[in-house]
Amino acid sequence: MLLDDHSEETYRLLIQSVVDYAIYVLTPEGIVANWNPGAQRAKGYAAEEIVGQHFSRFYTEEEQATGQPLRNLETARATGRFEAQGWRLRKDGGAFWAHVIIDAIKSDDGKLIGFAKITRDCTDQRNALLAQREEERNFRLLVQGVSDYAIYMLDLSGHIVNWNLGAERAKGYTEAEIVGQHFSVFYTPEDRAAGLPGKGMETARREGRFEAEGIRLRKDGSRFWTSVAIDAIRDDDGQMIGFAKITKDISERRRTELELLEAKEFAERQSTELAKLSRFLDSVISNIPASVIVQDASSRVILLANQQAERLFSTARMVGRFARECLRPESVAYLEAQLNKALEQGEVDVSEAPVETAHGLRTLRSRTLLNKEAVSGQDYVLFVAEDVTDELAATAKIHHMAHHDALTGLPNRTLFKARLKEALSQSQGCEQLTATLCLDLDNFKNINDVLGHAFGDKLLRALSERLSSELRDQDTLARLGGDEFAVILPGLESYEAAELAAQRLIQATRPAFLIEGHTCSVGVSVGIALSPEDHEDPEQLMGYADMALYEAKRNGRNRFERFRPALDETARQRRALEIDLRTALHFGYLHMYYQPVIEQQGAEITGYEALLRWQHPTKGTIMPMDFIPMAEETGLIHEVGNRALNLACREAASWGTQQTVAVNLSAVQFKNPGLVAAIELALNDSGLAAERLELEITESVLLDNSEENVTVLRALKALGVAISLDDFGTGYSSLGYLRSFPFDRIKIDMSFVHDMADSKEALAIIRAITGMSNSLNIKTTAEGVETQEQMAQLTAEGCTCFQGYLFGKPVPADERITMLGMNP
Ligand code: C2E
Ligand code: MG
Ligand code: MG
Repeated sequence: MLLDDHSEETYRLLIQSVVDYAIYVLTPEGIVANWNPGAQRAKGYAAEEIVGQHFSRFYTEEEQATGQPLRNLETARATGRFEAQGWRLRKDGGAFWAHVIIDAIKSDDGKLIGFAKITRDCTDQRNALLAQREEERNFRLLVQGVSDYAIYMLDLSGHIVNWNLGAERAKGYTEAEIVGQHFSVFYTPEDRAAGLPGKGMETARREGRFEAEGIRLRKDGSRFWTSVAIDAIRDDDGQMIGFAKITKDISERRRTELELLEAKEFAERQSTELAKLSRFLDSVISNIPASVIVQDASSRVILLANQQAERLFSTARMVGRFARECLRPESVAYLEAQLNKALEQGEVDVSEAPVETAHGLRTLRSRTLLNKEAVSGQDYVLFVAEDVTDELAATAKIHHMAHHDALTGLPNRTLFKARLKEALSQSQGCEQLTATLCLDLDNFKNINDVLGHAFGDKLLRALSERLSSELRDQDTLARLGGDEFAVILPGLESYEAAELAAQRLIQATRPAFLIEGHTCSVGVSVGIALSPEDHEDPEQLMGYADMALYEAKRNGRNRFERFRPALDETARQRRALEIDLRTALHFGYLHMYYQPVIEQQGAEITGYEALLRWQHPTKGTIMPMDFIPMAEETGLIHEVGNRALNLACREAASWGTQQTVAVNLSAVQFKNPGLVAAIELALNDSGLAAERLELEITESVLLDNSEENVTVLRALKALGVAISLDDFGTGYSSLGYLRSFPFDRIKIDMSFVHDMADSKEALAIIRAITGMSNSLNIKTTAEGVETQEQMAQLTAEGCTCFQGYLFGKPVPADERITMLGMNP
């Protein structure tokens, strides 16, 4: 369409006034038909220069060469409009970025009349756009490349819009997996339940930013500690378009922080503990019953000294001073010596020494220790000393007590054995002999009982002094217990030397002792055993010396005897006999024989004495004297005595007469506290009337524990049994005994009966006994009456009863004579 003239003019003027756009018309061939000021401004040509020129000159050479200008016109012609941007050239050859529109202008009948061309210089806009693009690209690359931070965007509802490398690394999701999901997937169920995701977004919306630390989840469900920032993003108009979210995994930092915190707490705890410990150690050091001194190893200044140390060594404060300034001179030397030793040895030095201290001479047990301080380089010497004076004294005392007899101060059995062992090992290989002597006092028990234990003790002390004075320094005198002593004589030349020593000991004992105004005599028996001749073992030697002692006593006391193998043989036989006796008790080889007792001048058998017989299966009949002493020594006498008692009671109960039966009791049986009960039981078991039983005891019962034994005798008598004093006149007999207990019968020992005819003394004793007995109304039985003459004489002397072969020997119960008249 072509404009009418008027409007054409108006339009031309309008076009001419537009300066920002180059507006001009091209002919269908592309020739510039007109030119406006905007075109002149944009392209630099004046109208007269360019009208009539082909428009392709505005294109770059390359485009012109490829025919681009005409192609563009063709497009406009074909489609009605061509629009593009591209480089165009100004008149001066400079290029500018042009926004170009080419509109085809057609006549009403559709014929192409030309082209309207509008060009705008957009170089500035383009440059600005390019710069912005570059900036955005750099920023995107930067954000995506950040791997330490998870950086991503959320839309307004909290869905993830994009995802960087750091986010992938931190949370484990790839961009494809996570974009579009709601960001609350990173929160723990607890936090989700508490509405934390929403609250964070809300804060960011309200205040522009939300910051926090907390636990978040990775894709694999693991948890990590994170610091989070959510920033609200607004467009240029201030409209909220979403959120930027920056998250950093701070697990490591958090762990370090926690560790630091723990380490700090631990250190604080430690330091409180240390302070406590140090206070405790201080109080320990000041309270231990030992002296503690710490010195600097090089300067020797005293760094620490507890109260005990100051009390022991000094009168002044010691800390911070040198030993020579505050210690007594003797102590200085001692302490210096200890310090030097520790420095030389470099290890703990333990010593025990007497030291002159503030409390006098004391034995100190000290430990000195050099303490090398690797860190500070300062070395210390620690000195700890205990005052062991009292401890050593106590130990020595205990040791002495354990090895000595309290009464005499002599070595005891333990020390004796040790010394004997030592003497024997020393004598090995040399020619000399070692003698072991066993000593036992004769009659000591009697003295103890009569004069009292205190007196006995004094006697033992006096005796031990006398014995000691007879011995050499190298000899050992020991008290083994009671009145038993023993001697070691080492280094002897001959047996005779031992004999002489034994003789001297016996001689030394002989003179009477004067104690508390009493004179008193004791005898001593000695047994000697010799090493190496008899034996080389200490135990064996002592046993042998003991056997020899036994033999000495048997042979009459106050003498010595040397061990000989036969004694050992006797001892062995005795042991064999003991075993035999046990068997005899077990199998009932012990029997009772009965010997009649005659009264009323031979007219009547009033009773029988029961006497034991051992029917040995191979050795035949064994008499009481051959096994009673052994039974007494071994303690078998209690069983043997019970057996005798029960047999006698049972048999007598079956006789059907009122005759008495007399049973012998050994003094040893009185040591059995059950004696009275045993007799009562024998009576009850047998049914024997108590008054038909007589118990015969010897004077020894009155010697040993006389008071206790008299009590037992009274208890027996209270049962209703009679008590006889057997073998009267032998031993330590004294008519005084007759008054000490109301005996029912005295039996005059047969030795007097046998001697009576020839010995006036024997007769005098018999007379004294009968006289005394008759006046006290005690029956007398003369034992061992073998002849009519003896019988007649005893009758004349006032004897009331008789026993002996004249009337009958001891025989088994069923063989006993029951009536007199027939002479045996
Ligand atoms: P004993 O009690 O003095 O007993 C008297 C001893 O003299 C008996 O010796 C007896 O056989 C013996 N005898 C009696 N008449 C005569 C005589 O006319 N001439 C001679 N030569 N001897 C005569 P036996 O049976 O050998 O007993 C010795 C000792 O053994 C007893 O002396 C007694 O002390 C003890 N004894 C015997 N049986 C027992 C017992 O059951 N228990 C205890 N503890 N000792 C007993
Ligand atoms: Mg008797
Ligand atoms: Mg007798």
